[in-house]
Amino acid sequence: MKPPPFGYRAPRTLDEAVTALADADGGKVLAGGQSLVPLLNMRLAAPAELIDVNHVAELDTLEADGAGVRVGALARHARVERSATAARVQPLLRRALRHVAHPVIRNRGTVVGSLAHADPAAELPAVLALLGGHVEAVSVRGRRVVAARDLFVGPLETALADDELAVAAFFPAAPPRTGTAFAEIARRHGDFALAGVAATVTVDGDGQAEAVRAAFLGVAEVPLVLDLTEAAASGRLAEHVRERIDPESDIHASADYRRHLAGVLAQRALAKATADALAREAP
Ligand SMILES: Cc1cc2nc3c(=O)[nH]c(=O)nc-3n(C[C@H](O)[C@H](O)[C@H](O)COP(=O)(O)OP(=O)(O)OC[C@H]3O[C@@H](n4cnc5c(N)ncnc54)[C@H](O)[C@@H]3O)c2cc1C
Repeated sequence: MKPPPFGYRAPRTLDEAVTALADADGGKVLAGGQSLVPLLNMRLAAPAELIDVNHVAELDTLEADGAGVRVGALARHARVERSATAARVQPLLRRALRHVAHPVIRNRGTVVGSLAHADPAAELPAVLALLGGHVEAVSVRGRRVVAARDLFVGPLETALADDELAVAAFFPAAPPRTGTAFAEIARRHGDFALAGVAATVTVDGDGQAEAVRAAFLGVAEVPLVLDLTEAAASGRLAEHVRERIDPESDIHASADYRRHLAGVLAQRALAKATADALAREAP
């Protein structure tokens, strides 16, 4: 199918982009187009105007320092995945990105676009939520920071206003003695996950887990972050996860199967993240 008619603007600067968004009645940002263009073609979205930000060079940034990784709105998944510096500062980013679609889609799709799209089965919203990251949003009214816990409001719905451009996302660095892991099950590699989990484990001086957190995708309307420290210590991790989640059934999987997957994936991710924490501590 072909998309419905729409107006098109291709701003060159951030100022032009936010002015275009403010002027547009029913405008949508076009970034990598890997989610928006299929929605247009299937006529599930019909924006009056597309604001194509692909020519706004100041959004094409990727910075990493001791505090974390700041990903500009035009940084493609592949660029972030391949960045050795980003992987050193926050290894969970690369681990999760390898599960996002296929390489061709990762060459074009953007990290910030994925967060703005807020698909409940997407990997990066769960990672941002788990790490306590944030998104920076700019409009003609000014700039604000939206914490991950406030950003994801519902399926394909964020707290960003229609006239706000998400200019960057910030993923905090891995704290000391902390390991990370990502695990998911999809029907085929590159498909959206039936269920998935991102986990962090912090170990104490004796190598015992002292803090265990996980964010689940594909099992709730928004990423679900759970503190699993006590459940892990009690040996009831999988049961605890199954009790805490309430997934939906759809044509891909039943709610019961998703609940089962979430428990199994949590165990796998916890084991991997613990091993990662110990390896990072090893001299
Ligand atoms: C076959 C296929 C498989 C896929 N599998 C996965 C998968 O397994 N996991 C996964 O996470 N994703 C998957 N995707 C989606 C892909 O990762 C997209 O790249 C991503 O979701 C959106 O990024 P984008 O830059 O392409 O955004 P676009 O498609 O350009 O935009 C998506 C939405 O976000 C808004 N938006 C984009 N950028 C901004 C911004 N800076 N500020 C405000 N709003 C903005 C747009 O207006 C639109 O509503 C898949 C896509 C395809 C086609």
